[in-house]
Amino acid sequence: MTGKAGDTVIGLGNDAIARGALEAGVQFAAAYPGTPSSEILGNLATISKESGIYVEWSVNEKVAFEAATAAAWTGLRAMASMKLNGLFVLLDSLVNIAYTGHGPGGLVLVVADDPFAHSSTAEGDARPLGFYSDVVVIEPSTHQEAKDIIPYAFELSEKHGVIVMVRETTRLAHSRAPFKLGKISRTLRTAKFDYGLPLHNLPRPHLRHGELHARLEKVRKEEFEKSPWNRYDGPAKPSLLIITSGIAWKYIREAVETLQLQDVGILRIATISPLPKALILDHLKTTTEVLFFEEVDPYLEEQIRSLASEMPAKTIPKFYGKLTGHIPNFGEVDINLAIKSIAAVKKLTYTTAQEEYINAASKAPDIVPRRLLTFCPGCPHRPAYYSIYRAIKRNKGKGIVTGDIGCYSLGVFYHGVMRNQHSMGAGVGIASGLGKLDQFGLTDPIISVVGDSTFFHACLPALVNIVYNQSKAVVCVLDNNATAMTGFQPHPGTGLTATGDVTSTVPIERVLKGIGFQSVSVVDPFNIKDSIDTVYKALNSEESQAIVFRRECALITNRQRRQRQEPTPVFKVDTDKCFGEKCKICSVEFNCPACVWDNESNKARIEVTLCNGCGVCVDICPHNAIYQVEK
Ligand code: SF4
Ligand code: SF4
Repeated sequence: MTGKAGDTVIGLGNDAIARGALEAGVQFAAAYPGTPSSEILGNLATISKESGIYVEWSVNEKVAFEAATAAAWTGLRAMASMKLNGLFVLLDSLVNIAYTGHGPGGLVLVVADDPFAHSSTAEGDARPLGFYSDVVVIEPSTHQEAKDIIPYAFELSEKHGVIVMVRETTRLAHSRAPFKLGKISRTLRTAKFDYGLPLHNLPRPHLRHGELHARLEKVRKEEFEKSPWNRYDGPAKPSLLIITSGIAWKYIREAVETLQLQDVGILRIATISPLPKALILDHLKTTTEVLFFEEVDPYLEEQIRSLASEMPAKTIPKFYGKLTGHIPNFGEVDINLAIKSIAAVKKLTYTTAQEEYINAASKAPDIVPRRLLTFCPGCPHRPAYYSIYRAIKRNKGKGIVTGDIGCYSLGVFYHGVMRNQHSMGAGVGIASGLGKLDQFGLTDPIISVVGDSTFFHACLPALVNIVYNQSKAVVCVLDNNATAMTGFQPHPGTGLTATGDVTSTVPIERVLKGIGFQSVSVVDPFNIKDSIDTVYKALNSEESQAIVFRRECALITNRQRRQRQEPTPVFKVDTDKCFGEKCKICSVEFNCPACVWDNESNKARIEVTLCNGCGVCVDICPHNAIYQVEK
C-alpha cells in the first residue's frame, strides 16, 4: 500500500484502487463491508493513521456515501466503496446529491459488481444505475487502470462538479496482477464549511436536473469524446467491430488473438456514462457487423443501438449481443464465451477448452461425495437454528421463519427452517407484514432471523414498524460479534472502529428495548435447553418478543485459542451408549459436519480434524453418549 513511486507490485484490483486513492490524496473513506469490495476500505484502514486519512466502516452504504459527501462539501477528497447491493441501498441519496452537487471537494463512489453472484444473492449491473442516477461512470479493465483511474476520477469530479462512479467486477477486484505505483499525495487539505453553499434542490428541483445534464454534457464533449481511457485496436475498416468494457475487454482481446483474426476491431469503452457518442458513431460507420461483449446487462448494446438510429438506415450495422441471444443475458463472461461468441458470429468452427472441461466435469457427481452447504463445525448459528427448529417442532410444526442476508442465510439449508432471503433487513419487514395477517386467517407464529451487522445496517425501520403496528413477530438476532461473512469487520455492536480503536458499543438488546419490544431475552445458543425454551415461550406469547442469541463466531474462538496456545477440546462418542441408526440426532438432525457416521461400527463418531470443540453435541445427545476427553 505504501510502496515507493516507480515500484511494480502484485496485488488485487481492490489493492490497486486503494493505492489510487492514496495517490489521489483521499482524506475521507467510508464503506460498508461487502464482497467483492471490502478490501478497498480494509487496506485504507491499515494505513489511515500514518497517512492522516479518516476511515470508517459505516452502518450501511447510504450512510457511508452521505458521510463522504459531507467531507467533499468541505473541500476534501472523499470516497465511498461498496458492492452493488450497497448501491441499491443508497440510490435515493445518490440521485439527490447528484442534483445538488457536493461542494468543492472530489466525490468518488467505487461499486463492485458480482457477475455470477459468486458471493451475492443477485447479480446486477451498476452501469445503468449510474446512468439513471446522472453520475459519471468509468470502468477500468486492468489493475494498472484501476489504480490510475482513481486520481483521474477525483480530478473530473472537482473540475465538473459531478459524482464519479468507478465500476469494477469480481474478476478485477479479486484477481492479482502487477501494477506500477505512482506518487502518494501528501497534501492534506483543511475542511472548510462554506455557509454560502447550501446543498439542496429547492425550490425548483427540475431546474437542478437540467443543470446537472448540462454538466454531464460538458464531461462528454470536453473529456470523454477524446479520452485516452477509451481505445481501439484493429484495422481501419474491420469486418466485425467488437464493443466491450471492463474486464470483458481482456477476454475478447485474448479470443481475437487465439482465433488469429486480423480483420476484427475492438473498441473498448471505459467512459461508460456519459458515452462518447461521436467516437462511437465514427466507429459504427467503419463496419457492417458489431458484437457487444459486456457483463452483466446489455447496457452498451442498448445505448449504442439507440445511438445508431441517428445513422442513415442503410448504413446501420448488424448487431449481435445479449439482445439477439448471441451472448447469455445473465452470468459472468470469460475467455471461452468470448471465443464462442466470435466464432458464432464469424461462422468459424472452434472447440473451446470449456466444452472439453464441461464433459469431464459432468462425470464428477458420480465420484465426489455430495455435501450440502452448511455452517462450520462449532458455529453458534447451528444451535440457534436448531433451537428454533426444535421449538417449532414442539409447537406442533407451527412457526414461519423469515430470513436475511449474512452467513446465517445458510438457514435455508438447515431443515428448510429459513423460508426467504432477499435484501438486508427484508426478513424483518416481511415478518412485520406476515405478523399482521391474523385477521385474514394466518395465525401461525412468525419468527424473523437477522444477524448483528445486518441489525444495524437495515433492520431498524422494520423493527420499529413491528412495534408501532403491533405486528406479532418474534425477532431473533444471531449476534456472533462480527460482520463475519465479509471478513470480520467490526460494527456498532462490537465496540471497535475500522482502525481497531475502542469506541462506544451500541448494545443490541438495549436498542430493542428502546424501540419498545416488551420482552428482550439474551441467550447463549450453546445452552440448547434454555434456547429452545426461550423460543418456544416467545412463539406463544402475546407480548412483542425479541431474542438475542449471543456467542462469538467459531473462527474468532479458534483464532483466540491459537493466540493463547490452547488446544481444542476433544470430544468422543461412547459407542456402548450410542443408539446408532435408531437415533442419528447428532449427525442428521443437529447436522454438525464433525459428527460423522462410522459405517463399520454403525455408530456416531466425532471427526477430530473437523471438530471445533464447542461441546454442543454433548447436550444434543439424548443418551449421554458424547463426552469430553480429559486433558
Ligand atoms: S446423538 Fe448420541 S446416541 Fe444419537 S447417534 Fe449421536 S452419539 Fe449416538
Ligand atoms: S464439539 Fe460436537 S458439535 Fe461442536 S464442533 Fe465438535 S462435533 Fe460439532
